[in-house]
Amino acid sequence: MEQKPESYWKKKLTPSQFKVLREANTEMPGTGNLLHNKETGIYTCAGCGSELFSSATKFDSGSGWPSFYDALENNIELHEDTSEGMQRIEVRCRTCGGHLGHLFDDGPLPSGQRYCINSAALQFKQTIDPSPLKKKRAGLSSRKKRRS
Ligand SMILES: [Zn+2]
Repeated sequence: MEQKPESYWKKKLTPSQFKVLREANTEMPGTGNLLHNKETGIYTCAGCGSELFSSATKFDSGSGWPSFYDALENNIELHEDTSEGMQRIEVRCRTCGGHLGHLFDDGPLPSGQRYCINSAALQFKQTIDPSPLKKKRAGLSSRKKRRS
């Protein structure tokens, strides 16, 4: 995990992004600008740009926060969170440690999971294919061809 001082994040992030990512606040439900986003693409970390969620797994949970039933798991970290008198699983960005939201087990099939994520912690990158990770791998293998 990259260790960046608070001053770095204060400069880089907007006040609402800072509150969520660095202070683990939760934005007001229904206020996020990505809540009703239905475009095809990838949701990245607003702190470091790491790819976190695919539009293919986004669903309308009615909670007021962007919800996903799956994550790009190599790029997130789960932590036990007992704050506010609740037992929850916190979802953080593995790269920068930024707080993203919480994980619940009342999501739709196939995973039954619900990643309840603050819109302020995310940025959206529009793509044609909602699974760029697979694409990248295909790109790598084609690059292996000899150039001679
Ligand atoms: Zn991050």
